[in-house]
Amino acid sequence: MTFEELGLLPELLKAVAEAGYTEPTPIQAQAIPIILEGRDVMGGAQTGTGKTAGFTLPLLQRLARHASTSPSPARHPVRALILTPTRELAMQVHESVQTYGKHIPLRDLVVYGGVDIKPQTEALRRGVEIVVATPGRLLDHVEQKSVSFNHVEVLVLDEADRMLDMGFIPDIRRILALLPKERQSLLFSATFSEEIRKLADTMLRAPLLIEVARRNALTDTVTHRIHPVAQDDKRRLLAHLLKSGDLSQVLVFVGTKFGASRLAHYLEKQGINATAIHGDKSQQQRTEALEAFKSGAARVLVATDVAARGLDIDDLPHVINYELPHVPEDYVHRIGRTGRAGRTGDAISLVCAEERGKLAEIEKLIKRPIEQVSIAGFEPESAHGGERSRHSRDSGRDSGRDAGRSGGRKETSREAPREKRERREPRRIEPAQPKLPKLDFDPSKPYESKAASSDAAPEPKRAPQRLKRPLPALLGGLPKPEK
Ligand code: AMP
Repeated sequence: MTFEELGLLPELLKAVAEAGYTEPTPIQAQAIPIILEGRDVMGGAQTGTGKTAGFTLPLLQRLARHASTSPSPARHPVRALILTPTRELAMQVHESVQTYGKHIPLRDLVVYGGVDIKPQTEALRRGVEIVVATPGRLLDHVEQKSVSFNHVEVLVLDEADRMLDMGFIPDIRRILALLPKERQSLLFSATFSEEIRKLADTMLRAPLLIEVARRNALTDTVTHRIHPVAQDDKRRLLAHLLKSGDLSQVLVFVGTKFGASRLAHYLEKQGINATAIHGDKSQQQRTEALEAFKSGAARVLVATDVAARGLDIDDLPHVINYELPHVPEDYVHRIGRTGRAGRTGDAISLVCAEERGKLAEIEKLIKRPIEQVSIAGFEPESAHGGERSRHSRDSGRDSGRDAGRSGGRKETSREAPREKRERREPRRIEPAQPKLPKLDFDPSKPYESKAASSDAAPEPKRAPQRLKRPLPALLGGLPKPEK
């Protein structure tokens, strides 16, 4: 499959070639033709799959039909609205709009809070066709009457599950109420909980479901390893690993926002350049942290799962799990940051006795044991009958592992506001065409489905109304990501 075969305009093909892309990713191959047709889409895809270009390219093409070069603001009403949960993501999506739309005369603007509202207001008054926005600041503009949605043709809701986690769904509903009924809507989400399905129900009309696994779902080029260690020794061990190995560009995952800052601070005190990124940081702090990490000024970026999900970091050589994630699927997400495009990477997890249960769940999910390597001087007193952990290169598993002791620390997480509406029968949603990829293991574990759809023969087009199968069970009921 090539971008040409997807039916994109020459202006877009040129921009894609300039971006260096040679072939569409699976989600692009599936989404672009459907969006070009004007259909609503429910996309199960995460960052890293190429989903941004998957919706931005066809969106630009649909708007390009009536692009105007007139200077008059009236000729540039808001025609596409892209909503994202965070400022980082808004900036990244906006960058994509600019990259892919550079040969098409459409005006675009990114709108987010935490910065002066005036320049945004002025740009909106001058007229922009594409607005990428976080919901709160967009509603500020609605209140100020600096924006009108009367001409919106396409709405995109990106990372809907994070919107939910961050409590944005009421804001989204307020915005939805202001949009023309006659429009195209696209909803993207990594997981599909009941809440997301309810939102999809009110927002989408006869949507097609597109789902792909991460482009980089656990690859063989990544080495996985566990270092058993006592909880209290973890930060010393981390500093030891960073000082003794030649690890550069290390993304360290922690479970809490508080833990992220504290750990980065500790590493700094140890003489290791580190920075943290999480939801409580100001926009400027987050941008600076990311820039410092990308430029190499900071060797280590400490992040929570939620903060890391929106980061546009293409490939990393090293990922360290300072704490194991609460849900095993997040292990796959985290590790997906490394070993991309056939490159090698390593994934190290510091595991204390209390995390043994989580480890067992992860190994079950990824269907393989992870090698355990004790580091001299950091071996924990065994939690299993006084036996000390074995030294180096012992890939035999601890048969005494206590899978029941998955306690760990309790996290605080903000409850997303619950919708008060009556629960309606879930709508059946037609599978995307070409056919959905086959799963290569337990269907309740979505992250290892085959990304490629090459084995899927296209089915004849069907009328949109009657949808043939329910949202697959695999998309439902995944635990919420940590806050
Ligand atoms: P996204 O999932 O949209 O965040 O995209 C992840 C990364 O993949 C971004 O850095 C894009 O620049 C890159 N990308 C998107 N489409 C392609 C493609 N067809 N070929 C290669 N890289 C791509």
